[in-house]
Order: sequence, then structure tokens, then C-alpha cells
Amino acid sequence: MREPTAPGGCRWRAVLVALCAVLAACAPLPQRAGVPTVWWPSPNLGERKPQYVILHYTGSDRAERALRALTDPAREVSAHYLVRRDGLIYQLVDERARAWHAGESRWGADTDLNSSSLGVEIDNDGREPFPESQVAALLALLRDIAARHRIPVANYLGHGDVAPRRKEDPGRLFPWRQLAQHGFGLWCDPPLPEPPVTFDVQLGLRAFGYDTGDLRAATHVFKLRFLPDDLTAASDDRMRATLYCLLQAAGRAGRSTASPAPAPPPASAGR
Ligand SMILES: [Zn+2]
Repeated sequence: MREPTAPGGCRWRAVLVALCAVLAACAPLPQRAGVPTVWWPSPNLGERKPQYVILHYTGSDRAERALRALTDPAREVSAHYLVRRDGLIYQLVDERARAWHAGESRWGADTDLNSSSLGVEIDNDGREPFPESQVAALLALLRDIAARHRIPVANYLGHGDVAPRRKEDPGRLFPWRQLAQHGFGLWCDPPLPEPPVTFDVQLGLRAFGYDTGDLRAATHVFKLRFLPDDLTAASDDRMRATLYCLLQAAGRAGRSTASPAPAPPPASAGR
């Protein structure tokens, strides 16, 4: 005699129970304390949001080589994104997770930039210009990031900015001025305002965000980014005026965030 078949509703319930069990197995477990605690979850929470975007060059001649390094457990380096020379964008790490791209770093009072930033690697060996297709893809990615995260305009930084003793990337050929024209990072063009005679470069660099523990290194990375045609070690009137202008621009920008849409190009100084 045949066993009676389960009514349709029961079969579906069994399938749903199995499905729920599978989904529960896939969902990430909450990170819990090591001591005994009562798990009493609150619905009042949100994702932690990045406050910075840190830009890098890979220092590599091929994206495949960089991809291997950025996914090799032994190398212990990663980034959220990698932008290839032809404009193809790889995402390697969930934006909610902490990627390992900045290392020991500082900007203003913020240390450990890995915890508060998204890392973007741009495939470039440090000696070549950045192709148009790559810059266009990077700008599209930054617009996309800006549409989802409230990153202050001044907080689009280079690796060298936050680690001046160790790093120079994304290097002197990176188009910072072009990025600033789209609202990502600050920039100053002549005519520059005259700083007061009491204006001190070291204090100014520190107020802008640089770690001036090694003033020579801080001056070097500042010039790589803002005065790439003058990489002499000394600070001069042009550097003083540029820095003074940038501090004024930072004051105006405050915590204003980048617009997801392209911003109009700056008329002159201080965007
Ligand atoms: Zn880097």
C-alpha cells in the first residue's frame, strides 16, 4: 500500500524550512564577545561609513601582477578597488570591510586610515602618464562612491599624503587638478593670495593634515601633489602661497561633501 503523500502546503513548508536553514548558514554570524554575554540584538544600527578615499598607484606594469599581490594571503595587502589602464574596475573588498592598503598612516588627528577609508589602487608603474580611459573610469567610480558615502571634498587623498615618510603614490603624474575640477580633493591655481609674513610652512602643513614629524618628507609629498613641476626640497614663496591658499580652501570646504555629479571647473584658486 502506498504511503499517503503530504498535502501540498506541508511540502512547501518543508522546502521553506530547508531554504531558511541554508540562508541562515550563509549569513555572516555577529561578532560576539569572548566572555559570556546575552545576545539581545537592537535594530538601531547602521553601517560604519568611510570618511576618506585614499588613492594609490600599483607600481606595477601589469594589472594581473597587482591583482595577484592584492589577493595573496602571504602579502597581507589589499584595496577595495583596482582601476586597470583600460578602465576596467575590479572590486576586491566589500566597502564595509577594512582593506589593508594604507598601513601606518596619519592625516590630521586621524591615525590608522585603513579603518576610515576606501582604498583605490590605480594600475600605474609610477613613471607613466595615466591614460584618459583610466582617469574617466576612476572619476566614474569616485562619483559612484560619493553618491553613497558622505566623503568630505578635502578627504580625497593620496597614499603619500597620509604616509609621507614611506610613500609617494599616486605620484607626480597623477591628475589631481583634474580630480579637483570634479569635486574630489582640493586644488589652487594662480593667482595665489599673499600669505601674511608670520605664516609658518610647518604649522601650515600640519594644519592642512600632514604629519610633519619629518618636515622634509611632508614638504616632498606636498610638492608631488600640488607643485609637481618643482620637487626641490626647500619651501619657497610659491609653496607658501599655495599652502596658504589650500588652507583657505579647506576652511571654505569645511565638511562639505563631493557632489555625485561633475562639478564645474574652478575659475581660479581654491577649489
Ligand atoms: Zn599605496
